[in-house]
Amino acid sequence: MPRRDEDTDRFTVARADLVGSLSQRVNDERVLAAMRRVPREEFVPANIVSDAYLNIALPIGDGQTISQPLIVAQMTSSLQTRPGDRILEVGTGSGYQAAVLSLLVHEVITVERIPGLTEEARTRLSRLGYHNVRVEQAVEELGWPEDAPYDGMLVTAGAPELPLALLEQLRVHGRMVVPTGPLGMQDLLLVTKTDTGHETKNLGACAFVPLVGRGAWPTPG
Ligand code: SAH
Repeated sequence: MPRRDEDTDRFTVARADLVGSLSQRVNDERVLAAMRRVPREEFVPANIVSDAYLNIALPIGDGQTISQPLIVAQMTSSLQTRPGDRILEVGTGSGYQAAVLSLLVHEVITVERIPGLTEEARTRLSRLGYHNVRVEQAVEELGWPEDAPYDGMLVTAGAPELPLALLEQLRVHGRMVVPTGPLGMQDLLLVTKTDTGHETKNLGACAFVPLVGRGAWPTPG
Protein backbone atom coordinates (compact mmCIF):
# COMPACT_ATOMS: atom_id res chain seq x y z
CA MET A 1 0.00 0.00 0.00
CA PRO A 2 1.49 3.36 -0.95
CA ARG A 3 2.27 5.62 1.96
CA ARG A 4 0.05 8.69 2.28
CA ASP A 5 1.39 12.25 2.39
CA GLU A 6 0.34 12.72 6.00
CA ASP A 7 2.42 9.65 6.95
CA THR A 8 5.42 11.16 5.17
CA ASP A 9 4.90 14.40 7.09
CA ARG A 10 4.54 12.57 10.38
CA PHE A 11 7.80 10.70 9.78
CA THR A 12 9.61 13.88 8.73
CA VAL A 13 8.60 15.59 11.97
CA ALA A 14 9.53 12.55 14.07
CA ARG A 15 12.91 12.33 12.32
CA ALA A 16 13.67 16.01 12.95
CA ASP A 17 12.73 15.54 16.62
CA LEU A 18 14.94 12.48 17.00
CA VAL A 19 17.95 14.08 15.31
CA GLY A 20 17.36 17.19 17.42
CA SER A 21 17.66 15.09 20.56
CA LEU A 22 20.82 13.41 19.22
CA SER A 23 22.42 16.84 18.69
CA GLN A 24 22.72 17.18 22.47
CA ARG A 25 25.01 14.15 22.52
CA VAL A 26 26.77 14.25 19.16
CA ASN A 27 28.42 17.49 18.10
CA ASP A 28 28.76 16.82 14.38
CA GLU A 29 26.47 18.79 12.09
CA ARG A 30 27.58 16.89 8.95
CA VAL A 31 26.49 13.58 10.44
CA LEU A 32 23.28 14.95 11.91
CA ALA A 33 22.36 16.52 8.56
CA ALA A 34 22.84 13.14 6.88
CA MET A 35 20.63 11.46 9.47
CA ARG A 36 17.97 14.10 8.89
CA ARG A 37 17.82 12.93 5.26
CA VAL A 38 17.64 9.15 5.68
CA PRO A 39 14.11 7.76 6.17
CA ARG A 40 14.67 5.20 8.94
CA GLU A 41 11.02 4.11 8.56
CA GLU A 42 12.02 2.50 5.24
CA PHE A 43 14.64 0.32 6.97
CA VAL A 44 12.50 -1.30 9.68
CA PRO A 45 9.90 -4.06 9.25
CA ALA A 46 6.42 -2.78 8.31
CA ASN A 47 4.79 -3.98 11.53
CA ILE A 48 7.02 -1.78 13.71
CA VAL A 49 7.26 1.24 11.44
CA SER A 50 5.65 3.41 14.11
CA ASP A 51 8.72 2.77 16.32
CA ALA A 52 11.15 3.93 13.62
CA TYR A 53 11.98 7.20 15.39
CA LEU A 54 12.46 5.85 18.89
CA ASN A 55 16.10 6.05 19.89
CA ILE A 56 16.44 2.28 20.22
CA ALA A 57 17.73 -0.70 18.24
CA LEU A 58 14.90 -2.62 16.53
CA PRO A 59 14.60 -6.22 15.28
CA ILE A 60 14.97 -6.69 11.51
CA GLY A 61 14.54 -10.49 11.36
CA ASP A 62 17.00 -13.40 11.49
CA GLY A 63 17.82 -12.42 15.09
CA GLN A 64 19.54 -9.23 13.89
CA THR A 65 18.88 -5.56 14.65
CA ILE A 66 19.08 -2.09 13.13
CA SER A 67 21.36 -0.11 15.47
CA GLN A 68 20.19 2.56 17.87
CA PRO A 69 20.27 5.99 16.16
CA LEU A 70 22.54 7.44 18.85
CA ILE A 71 25.11 4.71 18.20
CA VAL A 72 24.86 5.29 14.43
CA ALA A 73 25.53 8.99 15.01
CA GLN A 74 28.45 8.33 17.37
CA MET A 75 30.08 5.70 15.17
CA THR A 76 29.71 7.76 12.01
CA SER A 77 31.04 10.88 13.70
CA SER A 78 34.05 9.04 15.15
CA LEU A 79 35.08 7.93 11.69
CA GLN A 80 35.67 11.59 10.66
CA THR A 81 35.02 10.83 7.02
CA ARG A 82 36.00 13.02 4.08
CA PRO A 83 33.90 13.39 0.91
CA GLY A 84 36.35 11.44 -1.25
CA ASP A 85 36.54 8.43 1.10
CA ARG A 86 35.76 4.82 0.28
CA ILE A 87 34.39 3.16 3.41
CA LEU A 88 33.80 -0.49 4.27
CA GLU A 89 30.92 -1.40 6.57
CA VAL A 90 30.90 -4.91 8.01
CA GLY A 91 27.34 -5.90 8.94
CA THR A 92 24.87 -4.35 6.46
CA GLY A 93 21.76 -5.47 8.36
CA SER A 94 18.95 -3.22 7.15
CA GLY A 95 21.31 -0.95 5.20
CA TYR A 96 20.48 2.09 7.33
CA GLN A 97 24.01 2.82 8.54
CA ALA A 98 25.30 2.40 4.98
CA ALA A 99 22.71 4.90 3.73
CA VAL A 100 23.80 7.48 6.33
CA LEU A 101 27.46 6.96 5.41
CA SER A 102 26.73 7.18 1.70
CA LEU A 103 25.66 10.82 2.06
CA LEU A 104 29.05 11.70 3.53
CA VAL A 105 31.55 9.86 1.34
CA HIS A 106 32.31 8.87 -2.24
CA GLU A 107 31.54 5.17 -1.93
CA VAL A 108 30.36 2.67 0.66
CA ILE A 109 31.02 -1.03 0.33
CA THR A 110 28.99 -2.97 2.83
CA VAL A 111 29.13 -6.68 3.49
CA GLU A 112 26.47 -8.89 5.12
CA ARG A 113 26.65 -12.53 6.22
CA ILE A 114 22.96 -13.51 6.05
CA PRO A 115 21.91 -13.85 2.38
CA GLY A 116 18.28 -12.80 2.95
CA LEU A 117 19.40 -9.55 4.58
CA THR A 118 22.00 -8.92 1.87
CA GLU A 119 19.35 -9.21 -0.84
CA GLU A 120 16.81 -7.12 1.03
CA ALA A 121 19.30 -4.33 1.78
CA ARG A 122 20.55 -4.32 -1.82
CA THR A 123 16.99 -3.95 -3.18
CA ARG A 124 16.04 -1.35 -0.58
CA LEU A 125 19.12 0.85 -1.06
CA SER A 126 18.75 0.77 -4.81
CA ARG A 127 15.01 1.58 -4.64
CA LEU A 128 15.72 4.53 -2.33
CA GLY A 129 18.43 5.84 -4.66
CA TYR A 130 21.59 5.20 -2.64
CA HIS A 131 23.60 4.42 -5.74
CA ASN A 132 27.05 4.86 -4.19
CA VAL A 133 26.50 1.89 -1.87
CA ARG A 134 27.54 -1.60 -2.98
CA VAL A 135 26.16 -4.50 -0.95
CA GLU A 136 28.27 -7.67 -1.00
CA GLN A 137 27.59 -11.17 0.32
CA ALA A 138 30.15 -11.99 3.02
CA VAL A 139 32.45 -14.95 2.52
CA GLU A 140 34.20 -16.82 5.32
CA GLU A 141 37.02 -14.32 5.50
CA LEU A 142 36.09 -11.14 7.37
CA GLY A 143 35.53 -7.92 5.46
CA TRP A 144 35.90 -7.50 1.71
CA PRO A 145 39.61 -7.81 0.86
CA GLU A 146 38.99 -7.47 -2.88
CA ASP A 147 38.65 -3.69 -2.73
CA ALA A 148 41.08 -3.01 0.13
CA PRO A 149 42.59 -0.79 1.38
CA TYR A 150 39.71 1.34 2.66
CA ASP A 151 39.93 4.89 4.00
CA GLY A 152 37.74 3.94 6.95
CA MET A 153 35.83 0.99 8.33
CA LEU A 154 32.71 0.61 10.44
CA VAL A 155 32.04 -2.75 12.05
CA THR A 156 28.44 -2.95 13.23
CA ALA A 157 28.65 -6.35 14.92
CA GLY A 158 30.60 -7.23 18.07
CA ALA A 159 33.97 -8.97 17.73
CA PRO A 160 35.61 -10.98 20.55
CA GLU A 161 38.80 -8.95 20.01
CA LEU A 162 40.19 -6.53 17.46
CA PRO A 163 39.89 -8.40 14.12
CA LEU A 164 43.37 -8.19 12.61
CA ALA A 165 42.05 -9.40 9.25
CA LEU A 166 39.97 -6.22 9.08
CA LEU A 167 42.82 -3.99 10.23
CA GLU A 168 44.81 -5.34 7.30
CA GLN A 169 42.16 -4.02 4.92
CA LEU A 170 42.48 -0.48 6.29
CA ARG A 171 44.92 2.04 4.83
CA VAL A 172 47.63 3.51 7.04
CA HIS A 173 46.20 6.50 8.99
CA GLY A 174 42.70 5.14 8.31
CA ARG A 175 40.17 4.83 11.13
CA MET A 176 38.06 1.89 12.12
CA VAL A 177 35.22 1.79 14.65
CA VAL A 178 34.61 -1.67 16.08
CA PRO A 179 32.71 -3.06 19.09
CA THR A 180 35.00 -5.50 20.89
CA GLY A 181 34.49 -7.75 23.90
CA PRO A 182 32.30 -10.53 25.28
CA LEU A 183 28.88 -11.46 23.83
CA GLY A 184 26.18 -8.98 24.79
CA MET A 185 28.47 -6.26 26.15
CA GLN A 186 31.37 -4.68 24.30
CA ASP A 187 33.59 -1.62 24.28
CA LEU A 188 33.31 0.55 21.21
CA LEU A 189 36.87 1.02 19.98
CA LEU A 190 38.20 3.67 17.65
CA VAL A 191 41.30 2.19 16.07
CA THR A 192 43.70 4.25 13.97
CA LYS A 193 46.19 2.41 11.83
CA THR A 194 49.73 3.80 12.07
CA ASP A 195 52.91 3.16 10.09
CA THR A 196 54.05 0.68 12.68
CA GLY A 197 50.82 -0.74 14.15
CA HIS A 198 47.69 0.87 15.54
CA GLU A 199 46.37 3.16 18.27
CA THR A 200 43.17 2.47 20.17
CA LYS A 201 40.73 4.75 21.95
CA ASN A 202 37.81 3.38 23.97
CA LEU A 203 34.60 5.26 23.13
CA GLY A 204 32.49 3.53 25.80
CA ALA A 205 30.22 0.56 26.40
CA CYS A 206 27.85 -0.80 23.75
CA ALA A 207 25.92 -3.97 22.90
CA PHE A 208 25.94 -5.42 19.39
CA VAL A 209 24.90 -8.73 17.87
CA PRO A 210 27.92 -11.00 17.29
CA LEU A 211 30.37 -10.68 14.42
CA VAL A 212 30.45 -14.21 13.02
CA GLY A 213 33.26 -15.68 10.96
CA ARG A 214 36.89 -16.69 10.86
CA GLY A 215 38.72 -14.69 13.52
CA ALA A 216 35.43 -13.74 15.25
CA TRP A 217 32.57 -15.73 16.87
CA PRO A 218 31.58 -19.21 15.62
CA THR A 219 28.39 -19.65 13.59
CA PRO A 220 25.39 -19.86 15.96
CA GLY A 221 23.51 -23.16 16.32
N1 SAH B 1 24.45 -1.75 10.36
C1 SAH B 1 23.16 -2.42 10.42
C2 SAH B 1 22.95 -3.17 11.72
C3 SAH B 1 23.84 -4.33 11.79
S1 SAH B 1 23.36 -5.68 12.80
C4 SAH B 1 22.04 -1.47 10.15
O1 SAH B 1 22.27 -0.27 9.96
O2 SAH B 1 20.89 -1.92 10.09
C5 SAH B 1 24.83 -6.64 12.49
C6 SAH B 1 24.83 -7.37 11.18
O3 SAH B 1 26.12 -7.95 11.03
C7 SAH B 1 23.85 -8.52 11.12
O4 SAH B 1 22.98 -8.35 10.05
C8 SAH B 1 24.73 -9.75 10.97
O5 SAH B 1 24.18 -10.76 10.15
C9 SAH B 1 25.97 -9.16 10.33
N2 SAH B 1 27.21 -9.93 10.46
C10 SAH B 1 27.64 -10.69 11.48
N3 SAH B 1 28.86 -11.21 11.19
C11 SAH B 1 29.20 -10.75 9.96
C12 SAH B 1 30.34 -10.92 9.11
N4 SAH B 1 31.38 -11.66 9.46
N5 SAH B 1 30.35 -10.29 7.91
C13 SAH B 1 29.30 -9.53 7.53
N6 SAH B 1 28.20 -9.33 8.28
C14 SAH B 1 28.15 -9.92 9.49
